[in-house]
Amino acid sequence: MTTTRFAPSPTGALHLGNLRTAVLNALVARAAGGRFLLRIDDTDAARSEERFVEAIRADLRWLGLDWDGEARQSQRLATYEAAAERLRAAGRLYPCWETEGELALMRRALLNAKKPPVYDRAALRLSEAEKAALAAERPPHWRFRLEERAMEWEDGILGPQRIAASAVSDPVLIREDGQFLYTLCSVVDDAEMGVTDVVRGADHVTNTATQIQIFEALGAASPRFAHHALMTGPGGEKLSKRAGALSVASLREAGVEPAALLSWLARSGSSRPVEPVWSVAEAAADFDLSVFSPAPSQASAEEIAQLSAKMLREAPWEAVATRAPEGVTEAFFHAVRPNLDRLEDAADWLRIAKGAPAVIAPEDAEFVAEALAMLPPRPWTETTWREWTDAVKAKSGRKGKALFLPLRRVLTGRSHGPDMGAFMPFLER
Ligand code: GLU
Repeated sequence: MTTTRFAPSPTGALHLGNLRTAVLNALVARAAGGRFLLRIDDTDAARSEERFVEAIRADLRWLGLDWDGEARQSQRLATYEAAAERLRAAGRLYPCWETEGELALMRRALLNAKKPPVYDRAALRLSEAEKAALAAERPPHWRFRLEERAMEWEDGILGPQRIAASAVSDPVLIREDGQFLYTLCSVVDDAEMGVTDVVRGADHVTNTATQIQIFEALGAASPRFAHHALMTGPGGEKLSKRAGALSVASLREAGVEPAALLSWLARSGSSRPVEPVWSVAEAAADFDLSVFSPAPSQASAEEIAQLSAKMLREAPWEAVATRAPEGVTEAFFHAVRPNLDRLEDAADWLRIAKGAPAVIAPEDAEFVAEALAMLPPRPWTETTWREWTDAVKAKSGRKGKALFLPLRRVLTGRSHGPDMGAFMPFLER
């Protein structure tokens, strides 16, 4: 069964680039009638925080992405240890004792010599006596020994990929302090959880090359991989987990409709235009990963806010019912919907309906007083405004703006607003 996962590290709040990864994985799964999993990559105990795990879940739920299972890497350490043991036994995991400083010097020397900064495998050439001496000093970190051949895969977005093993350092899988690194854990989890498709950011392309060999070394089939281009801010800047305006939380607080963000994420960066969808199921119906572009795309909070306002003005009640401000009913929402930028704005119109201070220009005072005297008795219906203004028009001879504007102002205190026919039934004053 098609199985995908979203695997965030809980080291910060999700930004739009992370959320796009989540959306694409969910859509691949839903389009195939498969499973979508949430995996918390929290082996880095120092940087992972519970509040970020909760924020990630809240962001996904808000967007309407439901997951079919959840796993946490911090609870699976024994499984990673067992996999590491197998790799050691197969001669694919070897201890190294270089310090960070030594490695940095080596990298710099290689770069100065215009060579790729690839680890030279000095640790593989240590004698048993040398290893014993180093081991007596401090614990090693462990690297996966890549076999010297090209790593190839058909990328779902980038097309055919081929990376020579000689261009890549043997990846560190276990740190000196014993921490398992993502490169190993992810492979173990993907294999064990039956993940068939991995969609992630283009910053993971080199990881994919090395992970393909780790899958092989563990006797597991590699999933299909697709790498989407990174998303940048409006100025081309990298998005960060501390990202201000483009964090999911800040978009939500700014009143962006979740369905609008979903619609935007399901299409932006692809060759297809962004079109409103109201659910993950709807977005999944004609989803196609191959239309995504390998070129970076830009996120714009403004563009998303505009789409959100446009969608809100056509939103079905079901899409907003659970989030609507207190007191806003389905009928009221329909009356004010064309005038909303954000769902919260419905609360302003509700206040106005309950009694806004009237605005009367001095030159209109007499006209308004006469008109109010002609107001039909309640209940007011959708035809009341029409009947009333027809009568006022006949009596006063006013028409157009001179007729309607003072009446709108006296009833709502505003010069602009919802269609008065639709709004009048809700006026309480
Ligand atoms: N924890 C990794 C990240 O957030 C997951 C990458 C992957 O999808 O394999 O970048």
